[in-house]
Amino acid sequence: MAKEKKAKANTISNEHGASMDKIVSLCKRRGFVYPSSEIYGGLSATWDYGPLGVELKKNIQNAWWTEMVRRHDNIVGLDAAIMMHPRTWEASGHVENFSDPLVDCKKCKSRFREDHLAPEALESKVCPECGGELTEPRQFNLMFTTHMGPVADSGSVIYLRPETAQGIFVNFKNVVDTTRVQIPFGIAQVGKAFRNEITTKNFIFRTCEFEQMEMQYFVKPGTEDESFEEWKAARMAWYIDRLGINPDRLRFEAHGPDELAHYAKAAFDIEYEYPFGWQELEGIHSRTDFDLGRHGEYCGKEINYLDPTDNSRYVPYVIETSSGLTRSVLVTLMDAYHEEKIGEDKNGKDDIRTVLHFHPSIAPITVAVLPLVKKDGLAELAQGLEKELREDFATFYDQGGAIGRRYRRMDEIGTPFCITVDYETKEEKTVTLRFRDSMEQVRIPLDGLAERIRKEIRNYKRV
Ligand code: ATP
Repeated sequence: MAKEKKAKANTISNEHGASMDKIVSLCKRRGFVYPSSEIYGGLSATWDYGPLGVELKKNIQNAWWTEMVRRHDNIVGLDAAIMMHPRTWEASGHVENFSDPLVDCKKCKSRFREDHLAPEALESKVCPECGGELTEPRQFNLMFTTHMGPVADSGSVIYLRPETAQGIFVNFKNVVDTTRVQIPFGIAQVGKAFRNEITTKNFIFRTCEFEQMEMQYFVKPGTEDESFEEWKAARMAWYIDRLGINPDRLRFEAHGPDELAHYAKAAFDIEYEYPFGWQELEGIHSRTDFDLGRHGEYCGKEINYLDPTDNSRYVPYVIETSSGLTRSVLVTLMDAYHEEKIGEDKNGKDDIRTVLHFHPSIAPITVAVLPLVKKDGLAELAQGLEKELREDFATFYDQGGAIGRRYRRMDEIGTPFCITVDYETKEEKTVTLRFRDSMEQVRIPLDGLAERIRKEIRNYKRV
C-alpha cells in the first residue's frame, strides 16, 4: 500500500479557513481563476476561469440544473439571448431605476457606492481612503449600452442584460403555449449578466460580467406566501446538502421595508460569511404580478393565464430564486479551503497540507490515478485504468514525483479520491483508494471500482 504520513487533521486556518489573498493566490497558481487579459495589465472588473475553474463552475451549474429542472416535473429550462429588445428594460424598470448612488472623493478621486459606505463615512461625508471630502451622491445607471447595426445613433441603442430574469418573463407565453406546464410551474435559466458596478473588489464576488442561475416560479395569486417559504427552505438546503457548504456560514437576511422594491411583497437574501463579512449569495423574492403586468402593458397585450382547474384567468404571481453562479464558485472555494497540520517534518516543524474539501460532485477532478512507480508496467496499467474511469468520472493521471507529493497536489485542488496502482494490482487485481478528507487508504478490488466510487460520492458527508 502507498505510504503517507497520517495524523488526525487539525485545522489551523482562521475561522473561514481562508483569507482572500490565499484564495486568489491558489486560484492563480493552480489554474482556477486568472485576471482577465492579464498580459495587458488585467481588467480588474472581470476574470477568466482556467482549466480547473471552468470545471468547478460547470459542475455547480449542472448541480443547480439537476436540482431545479431535472428533479422537478414542473420546472422547465430556457436559454434566452443576452441582447434583448430595449423596450424590455423600460418595462422592467431598469432604464429608469437600475442605478446606484455614486459618490466621489474630491481629493483622491476614489469612487464609492454611497450605500456601501460605513456609517461614520456616510455621516461625516469624508473619504474612507484619505479623509477627503465626498461629493453629493449622483445616480449612476448600471446597464452597459451598445449599438446594434452599423449606425451608432440613439435609435440603435441596446443593453447587455443586467439579469437573466427578463428573458424568462418575455417568454412566459411561449412556454405556456408550447409545453404542457400548468401553474404552479417554473422556468429556469443560467447565463451571463452585465452590470457597470461602481466598485468591483473582493475578487470574483462583484464583477462587471458574471453569471446567474435564476428560476421564476409562477403561482396563482393568494398562494405566493406558501410558495415563498417552500423555495426559501429548498434553496438553503441546496447549498448545504448538494454543494456541501458549512451551514454555520449561511443565514437568511430579510430585506427591511425601506429596502424592498415597491412591487415586492417579501425578499430574503441567503448570505454567506465571507472573510469580509456577511454578504449576499442568493436573493429569493416574492414579486407579485409586477413583471408580467408591466410586460403586458408595454407590449400592448395582457400576459395572463387561463387556469384549467377552474377556468379563471389571471396574471400569475412570481417567486424568484436568483443565485450568482460565479459568486457560488467563490463561496465553494472559500468554504472548502483548509490548512491542516498533519504532523511534523524531520526538523520538528509543522507539516501543513492545504486542502479543498469540495463536495465530490462538484470537484473539478473526481478521481486521480497514480502508479506507485513508473516501471515494471505499472504506468501502463494505471493509464489503462484511468482511460476506463474517464467514461464515468472527471479523471487525472499523474506519475511525476513521490506518491506523498502527488497526493498533496490533489488535495490542494480538491480531488476527493486517488487510486494508486502498485505491484499488488498486477498480482491480486486490487488498488489503493485514498480519501482526501481523512487521508485514509483502503485496499479494494479492481472489480467494481467505479461502482464503489459512485457510492462514496452518494454517501459523502463532510467532516
Ligand atoms: P447588490 O445589491 O449587492 O449589488 P443585488 O441585490 O442587486 O446585489 P441581485 O440583483 O439580487 O443582486 O442579483 C442576484 C444574484 O446575482 C446575487 O445574489 C449575486 O449572487 C449575483 N450578482 C449580482 N451582482 C453581481 C456582480 N456584480 N458580480 C457577481 N455576482 C453578482
